Amino acid sequence: MHFHNAAVILLGSLYFAFASAVQTDEAIIKTDILNVRSGPGLNFERIGKVYRNETYPVLKEQDGWVKIKTPNQTGWAASKYLERSQQYREKEQTASGSAPVDKSMPSDANDLDQKTIVLDAGHGGKDSGAIGAGGTNEKMFTRRTVQELAQILTSLNAEVVLTRKSDHFVSLAARASLSNISNADAFISIHYNSFPQEPNVTGIETYFQNNQDKALARSVQKGIILGTGANDRGISNGDYQVTRQSAIPSILIESGYISNAEKAQLFRTDVYQKKLAAGIARGLNAYFMKTGF
Ligand SMILES: [Zn+2]
Repeated sequence: MHFHNAAVILLGSLYFAFASAVQTDEAIIKTDILNVRSGPGLNFERIGKVYRNETYPVLKEQDGWVKIKTPNQTGWAASKYLERSQQYREKEQTASGSAPVDKSMPSDANDLDQKTIVLDAGHGGKDSGAIGAGGTNEKMFTRRTVQELAQILTSLNAEVVLTRKSDHFVSLAARASLSNISNADAFISIHYNSFPQEPNVTGIETYFQNNQDKALARSVQKGIILGTGANDRGISNGDYQVTRQSAIPSILIESGYISNAEKAQLFRTDVYQKKLAAGIARGLNAYFMKTGF
């Protein structure tokens, strides 16, 4: 009796595992940031966010929308920003093929649409910034991060203003005044840290100037840590000329310690720079969404 029951349970769970492996229809998110809504349409309330490469079970679909189940809720996301799991797509392709993307439909992927963001790559030209492990220069890393970030923000329909486009010197005052005349929504200064006396120190921190900048700092720091898994050094009040003279919400990100040889190596990779930039964009988006992550 004992054994019999065990065998039934075992067979039952094997069947369940097999059945769910075959039948599960999952949606893989194919845009950096996507709204989840209470119903299948842009007029329904935004109730959450999902992010690139996250995968969720699909419960239903209707009129170009799918109902997905996230750990916190169920809600609707626009199909055109998703890819469906392999088994499902094969079935669907033999049936009808996939519908063309309607570019005239308003974007539902983000809250950065039409926002203007000033991106400030720290240092440049004669000012190389901190010197890191292996003779790396802070100014090269800051420019790289800004390039990646500019690309993501532009793809999300944000307007991007750069304080420097190449490796040349720009004064702090010029950076701040560019920020003020751009009528921008946020100013983000990218820096990297170095502390050669303690090469084991790692982590990312975000500085804000005034209380009004604190929400932006908190949101971006959270996005970065979620995106990179880096050591979280939190947000701090810091008095920097670029953020002090900027009239719009302004933060300065110390994007990691180039004095740590392993991290300096990591920061050179495309994969890491894309993760970092996507994390900053995610935090920015959450900030503009007001309801947060
Ligand atoms: Zn710096």
